[in-house]
Amino acid sequence: MIYYSTNKQAPNASLQEAVVKGLAADKGLFMPMSIKPLPQDFYDSIESLSFQEIAYRVADAFFGEDVPADTLKQIVYDTLSFDVPLVKVSENIYSLELFHGPTLAFKDVGGRFMARLLGYFIKKEGQKNVNVLVATSGDTGSAVANGFFGVEGIHVYVLYPKGKVSEIQEKQFTTLGQNITALEVDGTFDDCQALVKSAFMDKELNEHLSLTSANSINVARFLPQAFYYFYAYAQLKHAGKADNVVICVPSGNFGNITAGLFGKKMGLPVKRFIAANNRNDIFYQYLQTGEYNPRPSIATIANAMDVGDPSNFARVLDLYKGSHAAISAEISGTTYTDEQIRETVKETWEEHHYLLDPHGACGYRALAEGLQPGETGVFLETAHPAKFLETVESIIGETVEIPAKLQEFMKGEKKSLQMTKEFSDFKSYLLSL
Ligand SMILES: *Cc1c(COP(=O)(O)O)cnc(C)c1O
Repeated sequence: MIYYSTNKQAPNASLQEAVVKGLAADKGLFMPMSIKPLPQDFYDSIESLSFQEIAYRVADAFFGEDVPADTLKQIVYDTLSFDVPLVKVSENIYSLELFHGPTLAFKDVGGRFMARLLGYFIKKEGQKNVNVLVATSGDTGSAVANGFFGVEGIHVYVLYPKGKVSEIQEKQFTTLGQNITALEVDGTFDDCQALVKSAFMDKELNEHLSLTSANSINVARFLPQAFYYFYAYAQLKHAGKADNVVICVPSGNFGNITAGLFGKKMGLPVKRFIAANNRNDIFYQYLQTGEYNPRPSIATIANAMDVGDPSNFARVLDLYKGSHAAISAEISGTTYTDEQIRETVKETWEEHHYLLDPHGACGYRALAEGLQPGETGVFLETAHPAKFLETVESIIGETVEIPAKLQEFMKGEKKSLQMTKEFSDFKSYLLSL
């Protein structure tokens, strides 16, 4: 498959180049040249297939030309070593629980897939000692670190702002050891990101070291997110609820929902999508006005969606050839305040005994308010509520049980290296490796 840049100024790339580079040279995002529809007989019998079988069919459409079948199958099956169950919350509304992976958030799927695909390319090239640099404000670091944990030939450096991530998040990438090194930067998330960017642009460093990024815009992190939309549909079909399906995605950088839109292009019978925003409503405003006005993000209790300039908007535009009318015909939007998010978590707990996390709450509310008669709604529950323990406990006034997987991380010993925010210090550290 050939990948082009959304900015159309950079040369086309192979899958391997797109995965290793992440971003195109013209700063655009890579898009596959074609999105192959899956045959009708696949959809006719989808409810009889397992998650891994379904995912492999989808993966084959994207990556089958570039990765041998048995390798691709292995990557898919290893990535999806956990279930993504569809759980009924209320009449006609279902939760697609994406929090059963190692770090209890949907980013595990993309993180694990990318690690394995990059591992395959490195092995194929006979390369050794590839270094992945990732800056994180919390969840990305844990998904990437756990995804790459133990992958041969790759060392991951997670840069995070000292004192600015929660203890649970910090433990998820500082306790692993082996090929994962946590760098605790005396600065902000933006400082961490600046260090990573400077490293990629530094000529001397790149002559000495093989550096790559595990950024969320990478096609290998982004496309695998399509897998679970197909599996959600299979589960709905099994329940006899597969007509007029509406899928609602709590959105920040819009990578997750864009993968769903790719699924629809492949023939997945979804009637329409809803992008649920917190107060960072740039996309919602775009739908209303046709104008895209990025602005600085606002802090909310659904903090993984605090994005003021969604990076995957470029992909959405490209997918619909820049047409506001075409985008509005398939996607609607909602925006919720922290107060509304709290209210939804509380009411859903009291009325349906289902505990939402603050991100999933935006998704559930959009369906509860916006479903038409005859429609069935699915929202993506993007993280386990215990990852936002204090927020959720303060809303429902009860203690929340911490899943065993999270407790395991809490038991581990934190190991990190202190780093200043000066690039010269980071550079000498990398050169000394
Ligand atoms: C990253 C994240 C989101 C936003 O996903 P995008 O793909 O950036 O739109 C939503 N919820 C949680 C819990 C996340 O970690």
